[in-house]
Amino acid sequence: MTWNISNDGLTAEALLTQESIFALGNGYLGVRGNFEEGYAEGMNSIRGTYVNAFHDVISIPYGEKLNAFPSTQQKLVNGIDAQSIRLYIGEEEETFSLFEGMVVSYERHLHLDKGYAERLVHWRSPLGKEIKIAFRRLISFEHRELFAIDVRVEGVNFAGPVKIVSTVNGDVSNYTASNDPRVASGHAKLLSVRACGAKEEYAYVMNETTVSNLRMACVTRHQYSGRPQVHMETDANKAVFTYISTLDEPISFTKWNVYTDTLRHGENPLDQGFKLHEQLLGMGFEELAVLQKAYMDGFWKSSDIIIENDTSLQEGIRFNLYQLLQSAGRDKYSNISAKGLSGEGYEGHYFWDTEIYMFPVFLMTQPEMAKQLLVYRYSTLEQAKERAREMGHAQGALFPWRTISGTECSSFFPSGTAQYHISGDIAYSYIQYYLAVEDRDFLMQFGAEVLFETARLWIDIGHYYKGAFHIDEVTGPDEYTCCVNNNYYTNVMAKHNLKWAARSYEILKAYDASGLAALCHRLQVSQEEVESWQQAANAMLLPYDEEHGINPQDDSFLRKAVWDFDKTPKENYPLLLHYHPLTIYRYQVCKQADTVLAHFLLEDEQDIETIRRSYDYYEGITTHDSSLSSCIFSIMASKVGYLDKAYNYFTETARLDLDNTHGNTKDGLHLANMGGTWMAIVYGFAGMRLKESGLSLAPTIPASWERYAFRIRYRGRLMQIQIDKDGIQLELLEGEELTILMYDKQANLKVDQPVQKSLERK
Ligand code: BGC
Repeated sequence: MTWNISNDGLTAEALLTQESIFALGNGYLGVRGNFEEGYAEGMNSIRGTYVNAFHDVISIPYGEKLNAFPSTQQKLVNGIDAQSIRLYIGEEEETFSLFEGMVVSYERHLHLDKGYAERLVHWRSPLGKEIKIAFRRLISFEHRELFAIDVRVEGVNFAGPVKIVSTVNGDVSNYTASNDPRVASGHAKLLSVRACGAKEEYAYVMNETTVSNLRMACVTRHQYSGRPQVHMETDANKAVFTYISTLDEPISFTKWNVYTDTLRHGENPLDQGFKLHEQLLGMGFEELAVLQKAYMDGFWKSSDIIIENDTSLQEGIRFNLYQLLQSAGRDKYSNISAKGLSGEGYEGHYFWDTEIYMFPVFLMTQPEMAKQLLVYRYSTLEQAKERAREMGHAQGALFPWRTISGTECSSFFPSGTAQYHISGDIAYSYIQYYLAVEDRDFLMQFGAEVLFETARLWIDIGHYYKGAFHIDEVTGPDEYTCCVNNNYYTNVMAKHNLKWAARSYEILKAYDASGLAALCHRLQVSQEEVESWQQAANAMLLPYDEEHGINPQDDSFLRKAVWDFDKTPKENYPLLLHYHPLTIYRYQVCKQADTVLAHFLLEDEQDIETIRRSYDYYEGITTHDSSLSSCIFSIMASKVGYLDKAYNYFTETARLDLDNTHGNTKDGLHLANMGGTWMAIVYGFAGMRLKESGLSLAPTIPASWERYAFRIRYRGRLMQIQIDKDGIQLELLEGEELTILMYDKQANLKVDQPVQKSLERK
């Protein structure tokens, strides 16, 4: 049951949410879970098909545009729509629709183990003809350009004519909403049709964006049973394939849609689309489904998490992992957008969400995919350097707060560009990669340069004052407190970044001195400069407040008035939709974990008492208006010993999209939170940490759980960790012998020799 997400809701509101939940993707291509045949007249739908990173460039309108405000931004484009399949039954050509006639039975499933979505319908037409229809749709993990839809129609009391009309439509627009800053408000029409036609079973459309001049092509082949009459019509925007047959035996009809684009397939994606079809000829949907299942088996082998005796949370965590897999870009052009490929919220932009919330999942379960995410950031390093110059920095790289192709797309700088911490977050992920994989060649080729250039940024933006290194006028992760001096999170991440820039230099010097010399020559890095990084790290100011015994979020945070939570009506949350930003900035109120997150990522910077007091303090003033918050509070509640709270925060996050608890799942899934749920288990309940000293665990188990288990990959090994009421079982499944730390004591692991430990934290 927990491998299958089911929902049979047919109300307008339920269907909009399901469009995101039943979205399919493979990191390259994504489609929302729209009905092939559409809804009833007047029902809202966000019909979407996306190719990751396929974007147009639009201008940013400003009332007052100041220096270095970005003048353009990128926007993910809603692409060619190949989802449409309509059915007409009988001489009367009654239109199949779940909103007419009678739905005798209806089921909708997302098969997390098999990697496809399905709708099973038993329908009686208004004139009483009964049929059964099964729709299955699959975006292939093996053939990344392929989106297949398979339809089976079977007569129940009817064996007459059936007409199936399949459309490939190039007349598409993006979704807009004028009163929600998290959704785009303008620029709906971004594509125009460059080619549209038909050739035997093939229908095709090629579109082009207006400014970026990127082309997307969809070439669709129709495969079907029986000896029907078929014909094709095209107009300027769409190609329509019609199939007419009789239902004396079940009909099978498959649409093989191949999507190509300029970024990956060059100037003529249409030709490439036809070529790719040649590889697929002869394949049937069943065979494709077998390939997909094999891929999924490989994924779950190292990524599954088992939660015994809680099916609802089990379903939640598997769904989240599945959607992460579907969303992650796997080439140098793409990353993971805040909504994955499931919707248009945040315009398809990539944020720090990737490095801090999603990357860790891939790092510890699918390290090759994690590596790809780093390669993408590396490919934007030159633009990050240019952005730093534009922002007045003589040296270093400033990564954009939100982007697709590497340039800054944020127009509201206080909670956009000012979030300099993203450069430290990206550096952090390269360091984590090194710690988990120990790939020194990768460090030489990619990581060191990113660490050096981001270190240079901190040196440039910071300054020494009374012996301490200060960073002024930045915004930390909490977007309800902007443009401050010495944000604890930013400073501690910068410190880590600077320290590891110097540390990488030492590691590479020992590993390959001449390779390092060449790199340093290219980047003009000297030994003195490396020392200056270490010095700044050592002198970094980490604000501490004696009176409260906590790390204040920034220099001025604790002297502000506390937001009046008692007088804030429930409907005024999220605050960002109800108050001017300045009103919010004036108070102690946090949108999301900030210092608490810093205490998770870099726990050795403070003692446990400070961390616990900080947790208590910030919990009282955090609204969790961002979906990036509760998972961090869960992890930290586990750390400081508040196990009930840890569990409650976890349950809030585990099904956030499945239960639409933030009310905006229709705009796309909350991918960072999905990664956060994995972290709440592995880093939270199981207390895993990754440090230069090695891998460590300090497990607990929520009171209502019997057992939970997960696997991780670490330095070429695959490990299984199971925790139940009686204790912990560690097993090395693949790889060489390894010593890890269990509650600070050494545990030695060898293949075929499971190790038992008792639970020390209950
Ligand atoms: C959060 C940011 C996040 C963005 C995209 C905002 O609401 O405050 O931290 O990066 O959403 O998910």
